[in-house]
This record gives sequence, structure tokens and C-alpha cells, in this order.
Amino acid sequence: MMEGCIFCRIANGEIPSKTIYEDERFRVFLDLGPATKGHALIVPKAHASDLFELPEDTAAAAMKLAKKLGEQMVNNLRADGLNVIQNNGEAAGQTVKHYHLHLIPRYKDDGQHILWNPGEVSPEELDLIAAQIKG
Ligand code: 5GP
Ligand code: ZN
Repeated sequence: MMEGCIFCRIANGEIPSKTIYEDERFRVFLDLGPATKGHALIVPKAHASDLFELPEDTAAAAMKLAKKLGEQMVNNLRADGLNVIQNNGEAAGQTVKHYHLHLIPRYKDDGQHILWNPGEVSPEELDLIAAQIKG
């Protein structure tokens, strides 16, 4: 547990939450500021501030849970789709510095705007960017 981290306290049961799933490694609970009905957070019990600090096997287990619980949520809530979102860093919209994976059920005409505005890029720029990423 990390001192002063709210998700450490929630994940480890110190602060109550509307839990929809729990095992030794994770707690999954409903978001208090939901984007849509059923918006939930997959949160590891061991503190890691973001994806880069998260052990690889925990990252893999979180995605397996997203698949299982996401399907259950879509079926049982009769949702029309699901966004699986994970923010790293303030620039990316991360507000709680304890890794979490958002499960956001989507409903036709739910009025949310989770997609981005597509930009423009030339084939030459794409070549440069791909090379830059590969390092
Ligand atoms: P982020 O912006 O860091 O990706 O997402 C943080 C999420 O945590 C937000 O959707 C916010 O509504 C949710 N959140 C923040 N504090 C609490 C809390 O104390 N309890 C619950 N259940 N959700 C929280
Ligand atoms: Zn924490």
C-alpha cells in the first residue's frame, strides 16, 4: 500500500466501494463519476502508479479480467458496446496515480464523447514517426 493513495485504500477494502469482482490481486468497483451506467474500474491491490510501473503479469491479468467482466457487463446491462480505456500521465487524462483500467459500457445515443477527432498525416510523416518509435 502507498501512503495517501485512495485506490490503495479502496482496493484493499479500507474504504468501502461498490465491488463487482474481487480476487487476491484485484478489486473491480463502480466509478463514482460514471461516464455511463456500469462504468467500473479494474484496480490492482498492489500499488503501481501507471502502466509503466505495473508488472507485466499483472497487466496481462488485468486485460483478461477486462475481457471477462466486460462481456458480463454488456450482457447483463444490455449495453451496445464497451470502451476499455487506461490513462497514463496528466496529459493523457490520468487523475488518480494508481493504475486502473476503465470499463465503460456504451449505449446507443448515450451522449458520451470518448472518441477523438481524427487528424491528418502524410505517408512521409508516418514513415518518420514509425522510425522514431522504433528508436
Ligand atoms: P483517471 O482520470 O485517473 O483515468 O480516472 C479516475 C477515475 O476514478 C475517474 O473516473 C473518477 O470518477 C474515479 N474516482 C476518483 N475517486 C474515486 C473514488 O473515491 N471512488 C470511486 N469509486 N471512483 C473514484
Ligand atoms: Zn495506490
